[in-house]
Amino acid sequence: MKAAVLYEPNQPVIVEDIEMDPPKEGEILVRMVATGVCHSCYHVVTGLLTPPLPTVLGDEGAGVVEEVGKGVTLVKPGDHIILSWMESCGHCIYCVQGRSNLCLTGSEKEEGFLPDGTTRFKKNGKPIHHFATVASFAEYSVIPETCAVPIDRDVPLDKAALIGCSVTTGVCAATNTAQVRPGSSVAVFGAGGIGLNVIQGAVIAGAEKIIAVDLLESKLEFARQFGATHTVNADEVDAIEEIRALTDGLGVEYAIEAIGTRTTYEQVLYALRNGGTAVWVGAPPREPLSLDPGVVFWGEKTVKGCCYGSSRSRYDMPRLLALYRASVLKLDELITQTYRLEDVNTAFNDMLDGKVARGMILL
Ligand SMILES: [Zn+2]
Ligand SMILES: [Zn+2]
Repeated sequence: MKAAVLYEPNQPVIVEDIEMDPPKEGEILVRMVATGVCHSCYHVVTGLLTPPLPTVLGDEGAGVVEEVGKGVTLVKPGDHIILSWMESCGHCIYCVQGRSNLCLTGSEKEEGFLPDGTTRFKKNGKPIHHFATVASFAEYSVIPETCAVPIDRDVPLDKAALIGCSVTTGVCAATNTAQVRPGSSVAVFGAGGIGLNVIQGAVIAGAEKIIAVDLLESKLEFARQFGATHTVNADEVDAIEEIRALTDGLGVEYAIEAIGTRTTYEQVLYALRNGGTAVWVGAPPREPLSLDPGVVFWGEKTVKGCCYGSSRSRYDMPRLLALYRASVLKLDELITQTYRLEDVNTAFNDMLDGKVARGMILL
C-alpha cells in the first residue's frame, strides 16, 4: 500500500509502497479516505518537531474501519471514523475529568509507536513510524481504538477529516480554551489552517470584534471570508498599535496565537487589555521568551496553553459536525484545493505560499 514517508528532515517526502502488519489487540485497520495537509507535518519536515524517522506523516484524517483487532468494542468494520491524534483512554484522571486532550495514556506513549511500543508499518523488514499515532498520509493505517471517533455516515469524509486536527484545534481554542464570551473582542494572530478556525470559533461564540493579523494579504482575505471583522497586515503596520486603535486604546479581551513564533507568543500578551486572556495554539517555539512579567502581573492577564483546543474528542468532534449540519460551521469553504497523495510536496508548498485555506489529500 502507498504511503508518504519522511526519511530525513529537510528532504522531500517520498510516496512509495510500504508493508503493513494487521491490527493487534485493541487496534483498528482504517482505510483512509481523506487527509488534510497540516503545518504540524511540515514542522517534522523542517525538523522543528522531531519524532522518530522514518515516519508516515499525516495527523488529520477520516476513513472507514476495514478490520478490528481482538477486544475492540467501539467500532466495527464499515463504520466511519475521524482519527484523533490524541488517545482518549476513558479511565485516566484527565479523561474522567473531561479533559481527554491531556489523556495520560496518550501523552505518556512514546511518539511514533503504537501503544504496545512497536510499529505496524515497515519496509524491507525495517520499522517505519506512525507520526501523531494516526499516520494518515497512507492508503491504510493501523490505529489504537482509543484514537477513533465514530461519526454518522451522512457526513462526507473529506469534510470530516478537517475535524481531525485544524477545525477542532482552532474552533475549540476559542470556545473551550479561551471560552470567548458573546459581545467580546478577539485578536487572532495567524490566518492559516488553525487561525481561520479560531476565527470561526470566535464567530460561533458570538464575539463582536474579530481582528485577524497576518503577513500575507491572501490569508487576510480568507480571514474575512471566515468572519474576521477587521484585518491587520503586520508586514505594513505595528499589529499591537493597530489592535489598540481598534479597541478604544484598551486592547482585546482575548488574543489567540496560531503561528508558533517567539514574537507572536509575546505579542498576544501586549495585544490584551487588562484582565484579558491570551491563548497559545501554535506549536511552541524552541527558544525562551523575554517577557516583562509586569505585563501579566499588573494587568492581571491570563496565559493559557492550548493542546488540541482543550477538546474532548468523542464529545467535541460529533458536536462540530452538528454545527456543520446546522450551517453554523464552514467546512466546504475550507477545502480550497485537493491533491493526490503523490502531490504531497506540492501541497506543502501551496500551504507555505498562503495559496490555500486548507489543502486536502484524497486517497
Ligand atoms: Zn495538525
Ligand atoms: Zn485517558
